[in-house]
Amino acid sequence: MISRVKAAVAQLVGGTASSSGAGSCPDSGPRFPYSRPVFLQLSPEESERAADHSGRPILVPALGSRSRLALPWHTGYAEVINAGKSVLNEDQAAREIVQVERKDWKNGTAAETVKDDGSAGKERDGLQFHYWALFDGHAGPDAAVMAAKLLHLHICEQLQDIVDILQASDVPPPISLSNNVGAATGDGAKSPPHQGDWEPPTDSESRFLLEKEISHEYLVIGAIENAFRQMDEQIEREQSSHGILGGCCALAVVYLLGKYYVANAGDSRAILIRGGETIPLSNEFTPESERQRLQYLGYLQPHLLGNEFTHLEFPRRIQHREIGRKMLFRDYSMTGWAYKTIEEDDLKFPLVYGEGKKARVMATIGVTRGLGDHNLKVYCSNIHIKPFLSCVPEVKVYDVAQHEHGVDDVIVLGTDGLWDVVSDREVADAVIRILSSCDADNPNRFTLAAQELVMRSRGILKEHGWRLSNDRLGSGDDISVFVIPLYGHT
Ligand code: MG
Repeated sequence: MISRVKAAVAQLVGGTASSSGAGSCPDSGPRFPYSRPVFLQLSPEESERAADHSGRPILVPALGSRSRLALPWHTGYAEVINAGKSVLNEDQAAREIVQVERKDWKNGTAAETVKDDGSAGKERDGLQFHYWALFDGHAGPDAAVMAAKLLHLHICEQLQDIVDILQASDVPPPISLSNNVGAATGDGAKSPPHQGDWEPPTDSESRFLLEKEISHEYLVIGAIENAFRQMDEQIEREQSSHGILGGCCALAVVYLLGKYYVANAGDSRAILIRGGETIPLSNEFTPESERQRLQYLGYLQPHLLGNEFTHLEFPRRIQHREIGRKMLFRDYSMTGWAYKTIEEDDLKFPLVYGEGKKARVMATIGVTRGLGDHNLKVYCSNIHIKPFLSCVPEVKVYDVAQHEHGVDDVIVLGTDGLWDVVSDREVADAVIRILSSCDADNPNRFTLAAQELVMRSRGILKEHGWRLSNDRLGSGDDISVFVIPLYGHT
């Protein structure tokens, strides 16, 4: 077992060993061939130059005279390829404006993506949401490419089911099968028919059995959570036919009805910079941060451990000759440590092992939430890792109307290539410095800020590799950054 783990660790690239795959050739080619984000509008020559691991050029959307091609809201974006850990840039990005149309329940309607032409907010029969997302692939770019093309459509489809409710201004009252809104009460009077602008149910509204008052916010959160699950299931369905290997972390932001919904599954991160202060908008999901969830699953379903792993955590590997002695350990219910007498079973490899960026689940993968990885197994074994990985994001909500925002207030999204080498404070200081040095009406200022963040985290190529300004090691990972302006978009 130990040699097997060593071999797996030696193969680790970007957090995972290679997926074992289906062991068969795909029936057809990739559904979405590898490319950089469409909004970068790269020529074939530019795409080729972008893949230069030694020069690592920083890519941004068109600036200056080509700024008519800029992203909606003049969102800032920049990216750079890794320093050679993988042939392709395994990060992907998406920026969309999506129209959620009312569903024709008799015939059905398809989700429609609206390319921005500056007419955001135009009246349509339905809702519109803005969308930004970063995907950080591992063991290949396939899952990240597919999610970048499709996740927003899954979110649209989920929202389509509840668009009638979301367009009512208040939480609707409970409705049951036998007592719909407007039904007679015991005293002969009609029950209050309205709450806010809620109307008596029409054909479409009466489809919903609203037994419990749920705020619109929680309905949107549920829609996003379900969309991630649908995306994950689609990757599983199509992995054989399209040869999809590996998986990806996913960080998505949905701006809908005055609120930002920040959904995170993985180790990318989002922060808010408001009035110079930094406020985290996401948590990372790693073997360390999710240790107790993983251990509990291993405890409940020990067959998932394949008789090779123990759900207990120990500070180091235990030797056979140490059986009978006392060793520190942690179980799923513990945040602290205690001593236990070492038994034969404790010689198995810990389900969660390692610290920081070296922490792994089953000695294989360094993130615990994301999309894909359906065929990921422990190296040279038949032990599946997917049961321990969750595709469900944590969704945090930021209500714009609750705060005043200045022209330099932004949300920054970054893959771990950014956050591994710069702190929240360093990110905020760099963004504020760039934004305050530009005129407030400069449409390029947010892209310049994103470019600065990628430059700072990549560093400069010196004799001893990529180095930051303080001579620390720069990030050798793919780096992708969005800078989303908050001012003027309420
Ligand atoms: Mg990364």
